[in-house]
Amino acid sequence: MMHEIEPRTFNNTYMNKKAKPGDQFLSFHGDNVLVREGIDKLWYPSFSDFTQEYPHLKDKAQYLFAVDNVSYYLTDEQGLDSVEGWAYVSTKRFRTELRHWRSLVGAVGWQLNRWYNNHRFCSRCGKETLHSEKERMLYCDPCGFQTYPTISPCVIVAVHDHDRLLLTKYKGRPHHRYALIAGFSEIGESLEQTVCREVQEEVGLKVKSLYYYKSQPWPFTDTILAGFYAELDGEDTITLQEDELSLGVWVNRKDIPPEVEKISLTSEMIEAFRISAVKL
Ligand SMILES: [Zn+2]
Repeated sequence: MMHEIEPRTFNNTYMNKKAKPGDQFLSFHGDNVLVREGIDKLWYPSFSDFTQEYPHLKDKAQYLFAVDNVSYYLTDEQGLDSVEGWAYVSTKRFRTELRHWRSLVGAVGWQLNRWYNNHRFCSRCGKETLHSEKERMLYCDPCGFQTYPTISPCVIVAVHDHDRLLLTKYKGRPHHRYALIAGFSEIGESLEQTVCREVQEEVGLKVKSLYYYKSQPWPFTDTILAGFYAELDGEDTITLQEDELSLGVWVNRKDIPPEVEKISLTSEMIEAFRISAVKL
């Protein structure tokens, strides 16, 4: 999965430190990120690549996190693709990058970029927010309001019935791979209750014997995903929630296509069922 980057380590401890020329940075323009693309590889820029054209770029950059001993910063300077060799490409590219640590750097950086951009003003009184020097927090001096990056809990559910797995496809999604039941936890609800409610809403089925598998941070949607296997309880007729799903089918283990994509919890869970790697 994308967050599994061993032997590298992702260090998200907040630090109030100034950038050095050799440090790397992320620059976003809408849903695009500044990179240099090699053959199946993304390169992120370092400040030293931009010293000539943007000598003060590092002075206002915001520290984000580190992977091993490489620190990553965020800049809101725009138009950096004027420097030869660098271009803004879609952040969808993070999903196809083969080296997970590069995907993780880009996707978490993009998540933090959205958070900083969306909280430039206090949501209580409307004044401009300030950056805390001690932690990853924005605060409002006049009214004292504080805000931290928001992470929403979400469940992924693999509904199974003996050798069959319930596979779905989302409506209106650009990629047409199989998916599992998924949904956000509502206020006042446990993850187990979310599992039962989402399965009922999306395919009209009841489930039992929930088995927690693994979790995954999913920066693309500001979520933490909790993956569950759940056994069908009773009637197997699927009633599709047609405004969310275009397909919901029972697929026999031997007919499930192998998962080539290794980035998401969903694909790992489908594959684990397919090869009987999970004991249910
Ligand atoms: Zn305020």
